[in-house]
Amino acid sequence: MRKYEDTYRHKGLRKQLVDQLRSNGITDENVLCAMNNIPRHFFMDSALDNIAYEDRAFPISDGQTISQPYTVAFQTQLLQVKTGEKILEIGTGSMFQATVLAEMGARVFTIERQKGLFEKTKNFIFKAKYPFLKFFYGDGFEGLPTFAPFDKVIITAGAPFVPPKLIEQMKPGALMVIPVDEGAHQRMLRITKNNDGTYMEEAFQNFSFVPMLTGKNA
Ligand code: SAH
Repeated sequence: MRKYEDTYRHKGLRKQLVDQLRSNGITDENVLCAMNNIPRHFFMDSALDNIAYEDRAFPISDGQTISQPYTVAFQTQLLQVKTGEKILEIGTGSMFQATVLAEMGARVFTIERQKGLFEKTKNFIFKAKYPFLKFFYGDGFEGLPTFAPFDKVIITAGAPFVPPKLIEQMKPGALMVIPVDEGAHQRMLRITKNNDGTYMEEAFQNFSFVPMLTGKNA
């Protein structure tokens, strides 16, 4: 059994990381506060314990990654999360991003297409702390029609295009934050759904994500 310990050393490193995110332009104090409250090292292999608070992505299992803290902070800030909002996340991965959203008071529905990663969510250590964080095994391109409409949608894998079914599952006025393929990288987009079902796009900087793939992987 793995032992989970959040020591003063971890807390100190975490605070340094949050200060670094702030000096790199993250201004939403709710995002920074949530990231300061969550032990990122719990979401990674214990062998990476000493480097878990470096601002970089790390491998998890099944060839996937836990996103870089700056990327998590940037996407979450763009999402303008408010307490009680219903948020759909595509790409559960390590569960870190989903936990940040839950810590901010959102009701989170997160989908993962890799069976192995989804199975790990059953042992999520903060289950009792975040009763409004729900895990699903499926193809994110399909979304979760049963639980729609959503206030916010966040995609944490590099998308080839904006998935039309996810637009359908947004409330009017809802926001989607999605990295869309542009050459070898992804351009971060924020999409606002209009009342007539069309949408507006704002473009931000480029990031690097693992690809958003169709279908489930057993
Ligand atoms: N949010 C994650 C980032 C994980 S990396 C975190 O905080 O750690 C992106 C994840 O998206 C991978 O686990 C990958 O398997 C998953 N993914 C890729 N395409 C998907 C799809 N169509 N539906 C659901 N998950 C998908």
